[in-house]
Amino acid sequence: MQHVFPLSLGGEDSLDNLALACFICNNGLSNYLSGFDSTTGEIVPLFNPREQKWQEHFIWSSDGLFLLGLTPTGRATIEIIDINRERTLRIRRDEILLDRHPPKTDPRL
Ligand SMILES: [Zn+2]
Repeated sequence: MQHVFPLSLGGEDSLDNLALACFICNNGLSNYLSGFDSTTGEIVPLFNPREQKWQEHFIWSSDGLFLLGLTPTGRATIEIIDINRERTLRIRRDEILLDRHPPKTDPRL
């Protein structure tokens, strides 16, 4: 597995070291490479969209509102970027009403 690092930790700004993220998630992630999984009490690597499959680490709640972690990496990543923050939940509720969320290809409980 290739390790990718943020600029602040010696990484590069080449395309293969970048991932699309909104400003708030990007700020939450900062330059963290690992996070705490409160279920197992372990410090684990955060999800790397360049090297890992989203569906192996995350699933939507049955109503599509909450993103849930399937693995320690998934749970730690959700926690560190606070992906289920209230403002995001309000946006998701509206998108669900418009049948635009979650994506049809994403797994749900
Ligand atoms: Zn975001």
